[in-house]
Amino acid sequence: EAKAAGRRTHRFFDAAMDTHVQMRRSLKQDLRAAIEAGAFNLVYQPIVALETGEPVAVEALLRWSHPARGNVPPASFIPVVEEMGLIGPLGDWVLRTACAAAARWPRGIKVGVNLSPLQLRRSGFVLDVVGALQQSGLPAERLDLEVTESALLASDIATRTAINELHDLGVRLSLDDFGTGYSSLQLLRAFPFDKIKIDMSFVRDIGIDADSEAIIRAVIRLARDLGIRTAAEGVETAAQYDWLAHHRCSEVQGFHCSRPLVEADLRALLERGASSEVAAGADLRSSS
Ligand code: C2E
Ligand code: MG
Ligand code: MG
Ligand code: MG
Repeated sequence: EAKAAGRRTHRFFDAAMDTHVQMRRSLKQDLRAAIEAGAFNLVYQPIVALETGEPVAVEALLRWSHPARGNVPPASFIPVVEEMGLIGPLGDWVLRTACAAAARWPRGIKVGVNLSPLQLRRSGFVLDVVGALQQSGLPAERLDLEVTESALLASDIATRTAINELHDLGVRLSLDDFGTGYSSLQLLRAFPFDKIKIDMSFVRDIGIDADSEAIIRAVIRLARDLGIRTAAEGVETAAQYDWLAHHRCSEVQGFHCSRPLVEADLRALLERGASSEVAAGADLRSSS
């Protein structure tokens, strides 16, 4: 009896494994086809300076619209692309597309591009960045590379050299999702960051959890003393926006200001701001 049950469990487990392996295999096939067909696109989310209420930067976010699965979120397909060894070409496409778009925006607007840890480790990465800048004509100072702690914690000499070379070129460096990893202060000393992005898990707790608020205040203070800007991610309410402005966070990003937009809509928003500050303010400033 017990043996039979064990066999059944075993068989069930095998079947589940098969389904998982099959799903993964078909996901890989679809991804390979998508990469060949160029079925990816970027959406762009404005980042607003709290001092002026104006957009100062835009983050490029990768989207894959799958014929059957619909919009597949990057968090679920980027690890598979990495595993397939294809993050190099896809990451390079993101970089080139984002730089080309940013070169069409009003002057002064930076573009944030997310990097996979594996991308940073590839030889030739610096040349990819230089190529994207040259081809688009975008000044290096307007490109902001967003890296997470995990990309840097295990960093080898090649990664460090690449980051220093990019810094010397004038490219900006942001520490993404700050607070979710080890939040190692060592990293803040070891790398020339221009900006810390405070993870949305802290922002969500504003007005709810005093400890999260204390941590955000401390990060803002620490960054200011180090001469680094701060951006709060996932700002969804006027209350969060106002709290961050009051505590002198530098920038905010989130649905309260704008959802990620297709490039044409983003450009319309930026151009409206450039021609009429009042109009941009009405769109992007807190309602309170
Ligand atoms: P991230 O770099 O921290 O990007 C911010 C994420 O927060 C985005 O999710 C964005 O759509 C979402 N977000 C922005 N404002 C709000 C808000 O007010 N509320 C909520 N709930 N969410 C908000 P998305 O686009 O799904 O991207 C998830 C992650 O995937 C990114 O996190 C980044 O780590 C990664 N990713 C996105 N694009 C790329 C890419 O081109 N290359 C690489 N390597 N990773 C990427
Ligand atoms: Mg990011
Ligand atoms: Mg983030
Ligand atoms: Mg994130």
